[in-house]
Amino acid sequence: MLDHLTYAAPQPKVIQGAKSDWELVIGLEVHAQIASKAKLFSGASTEFGSEPNSNVAFVDAAMPGMLPVINEFCVAQAVRTGLGLKAAINLRSAFDRKNYFYPDLPQGYQISQLYHPIVGEGEVIVDMGPGIARRVRIERIHMEQDAGKSIHDMDPNMSFVDLNRTGVALMEIVSRPDIRGPEEAAAYVAKLRQIMRYLGTCDGNMQNGNLRADVNVSVCKPGDYERFMETGDFGHLGTRCEIKNMNSLRFIQAAIEYEARRQIAIIEDGGTVVQETRLYDPDKGETRSMRSKEEAHDYRYFPDPDLLPLEIDQTWVDDIAAAMPELPDEKKARFVKDLGLSEYDAGVLTAEVENADYFEAVAAGRDGKMAANWVINELFGRLNKEGLTIATSPVTAAQLGGVIDLIAKGDISGKIAKDLFEILWNEGGDPAAIVEARGMKQVTDLGAIEAAVDEIITANPAQVEKARANPKLAGWFVGQVLKATGGKANPAAVNDLVAQKLGL
Ligand code: ADP
Ligand code: MG
Repeated sequence: MLDHLTYAAPQPKVIQGAKSDWELVIGLEVHAQIASKAKLFSGASTEFGSEPNSNVAFVDAAMPGMLPVINEFCVAQAVRTGLGLKAAINLRSAFDRKNYFYPDLPQGYQISQLYHPIVGEGEVIVDMGPGIARRVRIERIHMEQDAGKSIHDMDPNMSFVDLNRTGVALMEIVSRPDIRGPEEAAAYVAKLRQIMRYLGTCDGNMQNGNLRADVNVSVCKPGDYERFMETGDFGHLGTRCEIKNMNSLRFIQAAIEYEARRQIAIIEDGGTVVQETRLYDPDKGETRSMRSKEEAHDYRYFPDPDLLPLEIDQTWVDDIAAAMPELPDEKKARFVKDLGLSEYDAGVLTAEVENADYFEAVAAGRDGKMAANWVINELFGRLNKEGLTIATSPVTAAQLGGVIDLIAKGDISGKIAKDLFEILWNEGGDPAAIVEARGMKQVTDLGAIEAAVDEIITANPAQVEKARANPKLAGWFVGQVLKATGGKANPAAVNDLVAQKLGL
């Protein structure tokens, strides 16, 4: 189904240093909040924006003696995401404790899956322009708990802790270091977000922190990456730094660019890059050190004794697979192949699943290209202008389909159709009934058009002389006839008749 795609050879971003050329190597760890009403190990709500500390079960607050109970729906969501990334599903996975101390982590450890993740190797096809794709390999996806939130800016002397987010289910999606530039990194995150939104497994709201990325960046000399790919030996790559907690596509790109140049300057000055965790400061446009590898936590991972290994049945996985929705790449390919749309238009229409559904309702039983034009140019254009979305569109798919039917039948011209769209937008109603009631029907009766042409020709003998000498001036007559018929005469018919009557 995806055979129309051209897989582009890696086009690494090349940065010219003072002494030589450098290439970028990037790997992402994306934290995606699982869309679920309840947390990973408790029944507490995950509702965003609730009163602080109102969505906290005893187990989230780590009350003594409380035991975690796995939320089956969250597991299904992780499996669904894995299937969406064409990944291997591990029927047996296990939870580990990652021990560290922080005020917003009452347990003193995070439950995660270090050694046995639920999802193994997969891939994401990243769109780098119409018809051009890059394959980014996924190493693993594991489930883990989110931490709470420390709030330092509400009081000059105190910090506050909100445990609403404590224990909310996350998926950590780890890529191979296959990403070769800032644009590709942003396109990769955008594609992951799109797939998860189609699947309904993560709402992808980056502003609310429901999707955030740790970005690993290193630089190497041309040729080194190919040697790494051949041998699998990380020794061919440069030392990486990790930029934590990025939740904006724009900042991800800016941070990578800055970080790569910082590393190049260090190496060219004869220094060495130290592996460390860094933070991006969007105000300064810089990354700065947060902690080095030496100060890194010793998490003392060990299997969580409160939780049995997680065993799932292949039949359960098969049931989830059978109920998977059509994914963006497949939908886009189908729009191109079956409806004759351009790659570009198909991409626009499938960007959000709600938009694709709306378009399909408009296109059903109609001309696909015409439906695409109306949805993209008229509807999306207007929605954008008014700051609305498909969910809040005043014009329904059935109404827009009705407009297209009237054009196809020859009842209205494209120009009148725009007026009709305007009426539907402002007043609503049934398109055919409006056309009927307001006398908007196109005049296709040749006799009526001929009469109008004759009338204009008789009334303007001087113009007739000029047009006969210079046929380009015939357009004036066409315009006059269209005006006289209130724009309702079929323009093609008017053109023909005018040319014929003027003897052109
Ligand atoms: P850790 O768990 O210590 O963060 P991992 O080996 O799991 O380390 O790697 C984390 C991420 O870093 C992965 O996405 C991986 O692709 C990426 N990565 C590893 N080596 C490099 C490198 N040399 N340059 C850029 N990214 C890298
Ligand atoms: Mg890491």
